[in-house]
Amino acid sequence: MRLIFLGPPGAGKGTQAERICSTYGIIQLSTGDILRENRRNGTELGKLAQKYMDAGELVPDNIIIDMIKAELQKPALKTGYLLDGFPRTINQALALDSLLEEMNQKLDAVLILEVPNEELIKRLTARRTCKSCGKSYHLIFNPPRKENICDVCGGELFQRDDDKEEPILNRLKVYENQTKPLINYYTEKSIAKYINGVGDIDEIFTRIKAILDKV
Ligand code: ADP
Ligand code: ADP
Ligand code: ZN
Repeated sequence: MRLIFLGPPGAGKGTQAERICSTYGIIQLSTGDILRENRRNGTELGKLAQKYMDAGELVPDNIIIDMIKAELQKPALKTGYLLDGFPRTINQALALDSLLEEMNQKLDAVLILEVPNEELIKRLTARRTCKSCGKSYHLIFNPPRKENICDVCGGELFQRDDDKEEPILNRLKVYENQTKPLINYYTEKSIAKYINGVGDIDEIFTRIKAILDKV
């Protein structure tokens, strides 16, 4: 199964991606996670991306497209994948279409997770992220069992630089202007599936499963 996960920052893509990938045996490819890993390791790509990420701006398309091109060649992705945080612009979507054509692959669905802005702000301002594995938590809605410690890997939790008020508002604007047009793009291709992203985490996963069991 090959899927795209589309939705504003804080919609719960990462949280649901974990469940989707373990249930359907596919691999999550999160461009945000890959970029953050590059920053931690101090690579050229990480250094290039840093200033855009901290301001809540998009990293330029050519950088992201080269990165995803390399990722999609990895043999581990043969059984399927979930693209989380990519594509984010029409240019990226067009580049993905030609990559898929080259590789003789087709997408099964584009999942669109819908959450209103006021809820997104509540989720993002109290999000905490694991330094080691990237898993996300929420101080109130989804706290770890032990304060500040990742349930899965024991890593330390931190607040991302872009999960502060100013970059959050900018990211919501960037989503509105540059990413939202993709909803129309995929709706016209008849592969868009809409999911109400408000509610309990498990309940939302049940909604997603109902869709994926039919594709
Ligand atoms: P969130 O999960 O909150 O939506 P991400 O982890 O997906 O955030 O992305 C964090 C940042 O990484 C973005 O604000 C942007 O700077 C950069 N980024 C991630 N994916 C892309 C992409 N496909 N195109 C451009 N920039 C990206
Ligand atoms: P995204 O990857 O779309 O940016 P995340 O999965 O990181 O979003 O979730 C954003 C924040 O909201 C995290 O703090 C997460 O724990 C929390 N969260 C995720 N799903 C829900 C939900 N259904 N209700 C409340 N909070 C949620
Ligand atoms: Zn962890």
